[in-house]
Amino acid sequence: MRNVLKISVKDVIPGQKESLALQGISSLKEPSDRIVKLYQGARESFEAVCHPVGVVADITKEDFVRVYRGDGRNEASTPVGEIFEKADRLALFAVTVGHDVHERINELFGQKDFALGSMLDSVASAGVEKAADVVEARFSRYSRKRRSRSEPIVTMRYSPGYCGWHVSGQKKLFEFLKPGDIGITLRESFLMEPLKSVSGVLIQGHAEIHKVEDKYPFCIQCDTHSCRERSLRLDRHVTSRSANEGE
Ligand code: SF4
Repeated sequence: MRNVLKISVKDVIPGQKESLALQGISSLKEPSDRIVKLYQGARESFEAVCHPVGVVADITKEDFVRVYRGDGRNEASTPVGEIFEKADRLALFAVTVGHDVHERINELFGQKDFALGSMLDSVASAGVEKAADVVEARFSRYSRKRRSRSEPIVTMRYSPGYCGWHVSGQKKLFEFLKPGDIGITLRESFLMEPLKSVSGVLIQGHAEIHKVEDKYPFCIQCDTHSCRERSLRLDRHVTSRSANEGE
């Protein structure tokens, strides 16, 4: 099954905290009035020009093996390579906030309004992640209808370019998903056009399969170690489900 998903603009407007984090501004400190004003201006601008849309297509494990293998440039062992075999369901996805956002950012830089241009860039980056969250949540809701509510079934997204999945994997992903109909194309460098787009695989399965340790050789170069926070969230998810079952 392949679905084009319309996404409401209000669902992708990012909060001040997540937008400022991308500017390197800590949430532990109260931002100045100037920064808050900049964020508000960028948010209004983003709201006016963003056109969020996504596409999701189911994929079998056999087909995903070919997509994931790509041109053979992945690390020998990776989280996705280990997780997808244990999944109940897989889908490829791509989502964007549209071309106009990038044009507006370029316009602002062209007018030498670097502060607002840079803030809009951060708001758009946070916004496209929210759009990807919407796609992930919709896929999860649809699939969960077929499962018992007590099972800790979790959908998570993984993208080429992260955790040992080489960015060149975009090529096979695009060949399968064909997101050109929602306006997303791939450059030779494997960057997406519009730049504010996210693509990858949605992996659905028992919460435990998504728990990843930072044990891979390439983890030394990782800036975020976001798998740790993800594992903690999964633990909380499983615990709250067990508690609900016991009530
Ligand atoms: S440490 Fe970084 S690269 Fe390694 S698994 Fe975790 S998130 Fe991925």
